[in-house]
Amino acid sequence: MTDRPLTLMAVHAHPDDEATGTGGVLARYAAEGIRTVLVTCTDGACGDGPQGVKPGEAGHDPAAVAAMRRRELEASCEHLKVGHLEMLGYGDSGMMGWAANDAPGSFWTTPVDEAAARLADLMRQYRPDVVVTYDENGFYGHPDHIQANRITTRALELAGISPKVYWTTAPRSMMARFGEVMREFGAAWDEPGSEESEIPEIGLPDEEITTWVDTTGFGGQKFDALAAHASQGENIFFLKMGKEKFTQLMGVETFVRVQDTTDAALPENDLFAGLR
Ligand SMILES: [Zn+2]
Repeated sequence: MTDRPLTLMAVHAHPDDEATGTGGVLARYAAEGIRTVLVTCTDGACGDGPQGVKPGEAGHDPAAVAAMRRRELEASCEHLKVGHLEMLGYGDSGMMGWAANDAPGSFWTTPVDEAAARLADLMRQYRPDVVVTYDENGFYGHPDHIQANRITTRALELAGISPKVYWTTAPRSMMARFGEVMREFGAAWDEPGSEESEIPEIGLPDEEITTWVDTTGFGGQKFDALAAHASQGENIFFLKMGKEKFTQLMGVETFVRVQDTTDAALPENDLFAGLR
């Protein structure tokens, strides 16, 4: 064992992704005394502006949106007790096919090696034992999420460290239940993968999920972190169900272990299984 604290590093694309995908584990592991580091790659400037103004519409000022989202991200991190927030500051690339994909400074057009070198510096600094990011499709095909996967994979090579590495996922069984609840709450929710939805089928069959972490006790913190991203409220489906229902329904976060150092048996219920 070493004298440095066990460390979790989560690499996310935009302000708000930390809460959606990993709010539970960030809060839980912080409470267990593990050092938590959040790396947010983009400035979120393609998010909604004040009063829900969409990017490209009159009154959408990308710089102002980025500044607002930074404040929201900091508030979210306070709710989740994130120990260290690191922002790489790349331009939000927008959804696949948007002009923002190719805008100068966008994360999507940044060479992987360039961004990975900066992330590798952070990995050398914090020496994470566990690194979490998205799968190769960015979970749902968003270019910045795909790029986060690519730079994380490359940064691990550059930094020469071998942590446990996880990709976030969602069990298909839960996606179905989630869809039911969303419709119950009157949200316009099209099942991913259905004809109506722009999003392809996401998540994994339950048996392909390696790691199920119980975050029930941290549902309130996760909900508050999501709510801190108020400017994006229209896009955060979870908020529509309210705190009570949310904590009831969303008490587990799931991952696929893609790199291991411990031989901890699968399925496991702890990202740090075998490390403590
Ligand atoms: Zn995102």
